[in-house]
Formats: sequence, C-alpha cells, structure tokens
Amino acid sequence: MRITALPYIGCGKCRACLAGNPHYCPTRLNTGTEDIAGGYAEYVKVGAGSCLPLPAALSLDDGALVEPLAVGLHGVKRGGVQPGDRVLVIGAGPIGLAAAYWARLAGASRVAVSAPSTRRQPLAEAMGATAFIAASDDAALAAASEEALGGAADVVLECVGQTGMIQRALACVRTGGRVVVLGVCLQPDTFLPLTGLAKEADLRFSVVYDVAEFQACIDALDAGHVSPRAMITDTVSLADAPAAFEALRSRTHQCKVMVTPWAGPSLNRSDRAIPEPMPTP
Ligand SMILES: [Zn+2]
Repeated sequence: MRITALPYIGCGKCRACLAGNPHYCPTRLNTGTEDIAGGYAEYVKVGAGSCLPLPAALSLDDGALVEPLAVGLHGVKRGGVQPGDRVLVIGAGPIGLAAAYWARLAGASRVAVSAPSTRRQPLAEAMGATAFIAASDDAALAAASEEALGGAADVVLECVGQTGMIQRALACVRTGGRVVVLGVCLQPDTFLPLTGLAKEADLRFSVVYDVAEFQACIDALDAGHVSPRAMITDTVSLADAPAAFEALRSRTHQCKVMVTPWAGPSLNRSDRAIPEPMPTP
C-alpha cells in the first residue's frame, strides 16, 4: 500500500495520544533523530498509527509534500485565519508557501508573501499569494504589506526563523491582530514588547501537526488543489543526494528536492511548468 507517514511515533496510551495529538506525547519517538533512523534510505520504520494511505490519484511525490503542507496548515489554524482576512506570510520557503496555500484555502481575501528577492514570486503566486513583496526592512515591509493587503494584516505568519523576524511580524500586524511563529530560530532573539503591546497583538507559536491535519492535506491534494506540486523542482537518487545537498549551499532555483531510492540518474524537473495562480475561493 502506498502511504505517507507522520515522522513521529506516540506511545498510543497517554492523554495526548488518545486525544489525537501524538506530537504532544511526552515519550514520542521522532524519525530522523537518535530515536529512529530517518529517511535517505530505501526503508524507514514508521508508526502503524502514523500511516495514512494515499488515494489512487496521488503520487509518492504528493505523499512527500504532505508533511510541509501540514506544517503550514497547523500555522494557519493557530492563526485562526477567517474568510476575508488579510494575511501576511514572511518567508517564501516551502513552509511559507504552504502557509500561503492554506491561508487562501481558509478563505483569506488577500495573502501577501514577502522575501528578500523576487526569486520565489512565481511559486508564491501559484500557491495562492495575491501579492509578493521584496522588502528588506521592517518599516518598508509594513508599508508595502498594508498597501498590498488593503490594510494592516489581520494575521502575520512568520516562516523564516531568523533573529528580528518576530519584531518584523509585530510591526506589520494590525491592532488586535495575531502573529504566529512557524520559523525555527535557534538563537536568542529580541523584540520590542511595546510594538506588540501598543497593538494588543497575540503572539503564538506553531509546531508540527496532528494526524487529522495530515489527512486534511491528503484530502486537499486529492480534491484537486494540486498547486503545491510546483514546489518540486528536482528529483535525485540516493547516490546523488550528497551532491544535491552541496548544491543547496549556493543560491539556487531549487525549492523541494525529492530523493528517491528507486531512481537511477537525476531526473531534472527544471522544465516543469508552474501552474496558473489559484482562483479566488
Ligand atoms: Zn503518548
């Protein structure tokens, strides 16, 4: 059976697991850590309860897109995005793009994605962004975001994970709005509390997803919302994976590189057409 699987195994017995939230399980095992060996192999051990079958219309590539999509979905849900909302996504990596995708599917009327360069603009628009902003400082982004969204953002989704991004998000959110941090920042960060306090903004954090969110991503792809396929820019064999990692050190057009243990030579997908922007829901 073709499946996709959550990359952790809950105990199945604790309060969190029984509530369908194995990611909160205090004794969960994480794939790709010292708990369980991860991918980049022909086979990997996953939890039986973490396996979700792929519908016939979906490929294994689609199955691999479910995980980053689920990260974006969880963030959009944490942000309480409502129909008609103005949403700003900071960062145009796979998680930012997934957040833009789900914000549009949640009914956001306008979704702006920001990044330092316009390199990801076509992808962001394919994923549902109604505007793309290449801005380098907080004040410029806040002004450009307000113009693109027709007002200050109801929800800001921070998908970069570098220092200064929480301050940037707080600078862009509307009074009474919500900031959700999805970016994984590994360094101490500072922000001016007054910026958030003056707006009485909510600041929330978002990590991973639950089983239901994984299933929701499968269902969305199966329902024909297949724009995330545009994120797949290359497929490499296991043997070519180290070289593919090296190539990512420099500026690249790659977004999601698939590693397949069953392929021979690299199958270059750079000629893959980017689909038309998603219609307004
Ligand atoms: Zn548990």
